Order: sequence, then C-alpha cells, then structure tokens
Amino acid sequence: MTGIILLGPPGAGKGTQAKKLTEEFGIPQISTGDMLREAVKNGTELGRKAKAFMDSGGLVPDEVVIGIVKERLAAGDCAKGFILDGFPRTIPQAAALDRVAEELGKEIRFVLSLEVDPDELMERLCGRRTCTGCGAMYHVKFRAPKEDGKCDKCGTALIQRDDDREETIRKRLENYNKATAPLLDYYKTTGKIRSVMASGEIDAIYGNIVKILR
Ligand code: AMP
Repeated sequence: MTGIILLGPPGAGKGTQAKKLTEEFGIPQISTGDMLREAVKNGTELGRKAKAFMDSGGLVPDEVVIGIVKERLAAGDCAKGFILDGFPRTIPQAAALDRVAEELGKEIRFVLSLEVDPDELMERLCGRRTCTGCGAMYHVKFRAPKEDGKCDKCGTALIQRDDDREETIRKRLENYNKATAPLLDYYKTTGKIRSVMASGEIDAIYGNIVKILR
C-alpha cells in the first residue's frame, strides 16, 4: 500500500479514520494539524509562526506546512505507505505534494473524499474532545468516555480543542469551502479520487474505506 490522502471538511472524521487505518495497516498518520499543535505546545519557532493562524480558524501559510510535510515524508516509517490527514488543503499544497512525492519516489494511490452533511459537522466539532496524552478522540454524545473527562485508553484528561468553538468552526468551514474544496476538481482527472459517505457510525464508514483500499 502506498500513500493515501484523506480529504474532507473539519469534522468529517479524517483523524478518527486515519488512526484506525494506522492500527490496521501499520502505516503512519501524517496529520499537519497534530504536528502544528505539538509545535505550539512546545513553543518552537514553527509553533510561534502557526499559532495565530490556528487560533483564528485560518490556514497556516503554504510554505510552512509544505516544509513540515516534506521532512516528514522523507522519514523511514513512510517507506511502506502513509496517510495524509489534513494535507493538502490548498491547490499550491497539492502541487507541492506532487513534486515532493516525485522527488522521494512515492506514489499517492487514493484520494478519499469524506462526505458529510454540513449540519452534522458543527455538532460533531462542538462535542469533540481529545486526549492530551495519547490523542484518542471522543464525542460528548456520540462517543462518550466511560468516565467523564478522562481517556478510556490512558486515563489522561480530555480537552476541547481551542479551535473547536462555534465562531472558529464557522471560519474553518468557510476556509474549507474556499481553499480546500477546489482540490476535488484538482484530483478529478487523476482517477485516484473515491467518495466515501462519511455520515453515521465510525466502524461502518471505516468498513467502506477498507473496501475501497482493498
Ligand atoms: P486540523 O487538526 O487538521 O483541523 O488542523 C487544525 C489547524 O491547523 C487548521 O485550522 C489550520 O489552522 C492548521 N492546519 C492544519 N493543516 C494545515 C494545512 N495543510 N494547511 C494550512 N493550515 C493547516
């Protein structure tokens, strides 16, 4: 298996499905959002550059994210394959990915377009909670932890992401429609794009994804 891109609006379940694919297929999830949040947490130069864009629900400049993805794809654990979650998000990022993949001798096999009813996205994002320890994801209504506010897997506290608040979510959805949705057209001619109905149960959606990949 080689490279897979998970494309879809915030709240489509890219991170959740990427984690399941990583567990089953043993290929890494490359989430630019996770990498940027880690950089912000650690106060690195990258984090300082990215923070204001992220807090306002905007996109981090292309050259910044392209740089981190390029470095990440060159790592040894991407040799068998990788799952891109949240990248590319703009046409220049997609064009840069084509160039980097060629340079590194990697192939993008599938672009999975996760499709969800827009009304569902807001509910999913507002209720989303993330474990600060292991990154596991929960939802106050659809996937509640056994003990309130605590991760089932590692016991660490769950938090609500700063950008999972209604005002910022609106901005992120607007940005998706403006900057990221045009990627569907960009990839249309490649024959790599597959639509995945991504409303409903996590496991059923995952089953549809695996069917496509096999
Ligand atoms: P995510 O976790 O994928 O929702 O990303 C959280 C935030 O990180 C986004 O709202 C952006 O501010 C930033 N970000 C993540 N990936 C990218 C990307 N590929 N291009 C630009 N900004 C990004």
